[in-house]
Amino acid sequence: MSLKINEDNGTLTAVYQTDEETKTIIASHVIVTLPPHLADISIKYLPELPTAVSQAMQQTQTWMGQAMKVSIVYETPFWRQHELSGLAVSYRGPVQQFHDASPDNGSCGALFGWLGDGSVGRTLSFEERKAAVIAQVTRIFGPEGNSPLHYSEVNWDREPFTTDSSYQLENPHEHPQYGHPLLQEPQLNGRLHFASTEVSPINGGYLDGAVYIAKRVSERIVGS
Ligand SMILES: Cc1cc2nc3c(=O)[nH]c(=O)nc-3n(C[C@H](O)[C@H](O)[C@H](O)COP(=O)(O)OP(=O)(O)OC[C@H]3O[C@@H](n4cnc5c(N)ncnc54)[C@H](O)[C@@H]3O)c2cc1C
Repeated sequence: MSLKINEDNGTLTAVYQTDEETKTIIASHVIVTLPPHLADISIKYLPELPTAVSQAMQQTQTWMGQAMKVSIVYETPFWRQHELSGLAVSYRGPVQQFHDASPDNGSCGALFGWLGDGSVGRTLSFEERKAAVIAQVTRIFGPEGNSPLHYSEVNWDREPFTTDSSYQLENPHEHPQYGHPLLQEPQLNGRLHFASTEVSPINGGYLDGAVYIAKRVSERIVGS
């Protein structure tokens, strides 16, 4: 799969190609909403973007792109019978934070949990991690924790549409400075705009930031 965006005389041509098809779209403006790091490595721009812009994109880490989440489903939210909320913070791990994720309709009980970068659980195999998480639930919430109906996990570090797996976090424990000034400027003759949450100078990284930057970019285009 490849995507090229060419600018010529005020017109943009986006060519999207897979093994099965090639699609060409002619546009007066293009809004790129991929995380900047991915927008740099997975889209070819012609003429090329200025080096400083490309570097700013490369250096912008995808918010939560290194996160790992597990979910464990039970017949009932048994922890409530022990007068526990399902919320837990653990320094021992492997899960560092649990939350009650049970559906409102009471059809089952569910917990979800985060495994941050520093968790020893990140270095375990799937089976080892599953066993360690279930043991932790049992330790914290009660013996029923040992009999889950279902366990699943997602590592956003391994999701190619979220994170380039070669990307190294510089400050994994701090919220990055988002909204790089160079990414506020439209490129390719003022017709290529960046609008992922990491571009937002307000609440960058969060859903709020995505909404803010989408509104700002669309107003800029409508007003141009
Ligand atoms: C685990 C996790 C937990 C989070 N928790 C919270 C939270 O509690 N509160 C909060 O405010 N925010 C949270 N966020 C952040 C929130 O998800 C983002 O702020 C929001 O999704 C950003 O919106 P966006 O439109 O900028 O990008 P995205 O929603 O990431 O959209 C970018 C899209 O681009 C697609 N894409 C990437 N590469 C390509 C390609 N080559 N071709 C085609 N499509 C591509 C991706 O599949 C994706 O759909 C969390 C994120 C993660 C990963």
